[in-house]
Amino acid sequence: MAEIPAPWAVRRRPGKPYTEIGIKRLRCVRCGKKPGYATWQACADGRAHRVLCAQCDYDLNALTLRWMGHPDAEALLEDYRTSLAREGHFIVYKVDTE
Ligand SMILES: [Zn+2]
Repeated sequence: MAEIPAPWAVRRRPGKPYTEIGIKRLRCVRCGKKPGYATWQACADGRAHRVLCAQCDYDLNALTLRWMGHPDAEALLEDYRTSLAREGHFIVYKVDTE
């Protein structure tokens, strides 16, 4: 079995997204847990595709929507938690994710 690379050693360049299976094979760059669930890109990070697990993806969505002052942030986040739960990802709800 191939060695799993350290999360930050893996860097996918813009225009080269992971496949759904490829994401699941990797660990989250934030917490180091598997499986990966989604990727995020930051312009300041060269728009590299970075893998996050479902919890960290949710936390980043929460942080971003709240930071933006999105008027429907809490309702959208509740919907997203429900959607993730349907996929088997049970999110720990944190009000103070900032
Ligand atoms: Zn994570």
